[in-house]
Amino acid sequence: MTTDLLDGVDRDRLVADLVAMIAIPSINPFDSPPRPGFRERELGEFFADRLAEMGMEVGSHSVVPGRPNVWGSLGGSDGRRLMLCGHLDTVGIEGYPDGLAARVESDRVYGRGACDMKAGLATFLEAVRVLASSGISLGGQLIVAALADEEHQMIGSKSYPEHGPMADFGILAEPTGLTVAPAHKGQVGYLVRTFGTAAHSSRPEEGVNAIRSMARLIEALGGYAKDLSRRDPHPLCGHGRSSPNVIRGGTILSTIPDHCELELDRRTLPGETAGSVRVEFEALLEELQETDPRFRYDLEGPILDLQPLDTPIDSAVVQSVLAARRDVTGQSDVIGALTGATDAPNLGFPCVIFGPGSTTQAHTAHEFVEVDQMVVATRVLVLTIVDMLGSPEA
Ligand SMILES: [Zn+2]
Repeated sequence: MTTDLLDGVDRDRLVADLVAMIAIPSINPFDSPPRPGFRERELGEFFADRLAEMGMEVGSHSVVPGRPNVWGSLGGSDGRRLMLCGHLDTVGIEGYPDGLAARVESDRVYGRGACDMKAGLATFLEAVRVLASSGISLGGQLIVAALADEEHQMIGSKSYPEHGPMADFGILAEPTGLTVAPAHKGQVGYLVRTFGTAAHSSRPEEGVNAIRSMARLIEALGGYAKDLSRRDPHPLCGHGRSSPNVIRGGTILSTIPDHCELELDRRTLPGETAGSVRVEFEALLEELQETDPRFRYDLEGPILDLQPLDTPIDSAVVQSVLAARRDVTGQSDVIGALTGATDAPNLGFPCVIFGPGSTTQAHTAHEFVEVDQMVVATRVLVLTIVDMLGSPEA
């Protein structure tokens, strides 16, 4: 029976679903309202229609107009509940003009969202299709969800627990290259402003240059980043990171600038929070002010606050995916951390990240996924669902 299930995974259907989803551009509008060409809702409808065709009971919730979370469920909610969760949105296509024309070549599918993470969504559809057509009755409930806005503020997963069916465990098919990832860092953003005194630039001594103040902070941040790399690492996530990533300041060439602002990115380890990061940034800023009272600043934020994930390796869902991966590939376990943040910590139950494709290609102008990886990922999902929710003989 298990062999039949694994043989039932069809690579042509996987490719067809992925190509169809790449053709629906679901680019995240980031800070702008959704507008023509930003089609998370249309992709959500496509995805939910496929789930309904396979006998799932579907639902949706508009987090903001035009930006839905969609889901399907199968089986009663009395037993164990397992969620397969992905996101509808992708990053943009600047510098990637053919990103929306999916291309199948050398057993790879190319296009925006190919690996992050429409391939993951395609593996969900195929896994449900294989199970539905096998006639297996599940002992628990399977939920498949596709959420809005993972690539920005994660408003989809932050609102999901209030509006969608909850689970006991989750699998997110972000591109891990088939590594089983029970952990990842969080991401916190702060905005720092430095203030100066404007003056004619022919007499700079009469002003205080806010950009020079910011330069002192940036210098200090170099030391801070080194300090992070000397702290005790998390066993899977490694070290926390920090980098100054956006800067704005000054007005015109002939004026000593009286303001400058910096967006500061901090990748946090499990146990670190936006609050603990703020304390560290404040200490740094206060030290600069103590050595020079003309250093005036303001710290605003967090302007971004994404949680880290740290699911125990002995959690049932991690162990089940590991066992299924061994069965399907014959290989020993590969456990690691995803480099970026995901929706998982917002869901509120233990989750593991496991999916086809690599974060090396995600967000680039050369995004692709290997079809072989999609097939393996789907087979692992099928075995995991059967293991977590019921046996083939049941
Ligand atoms: Zn993603």
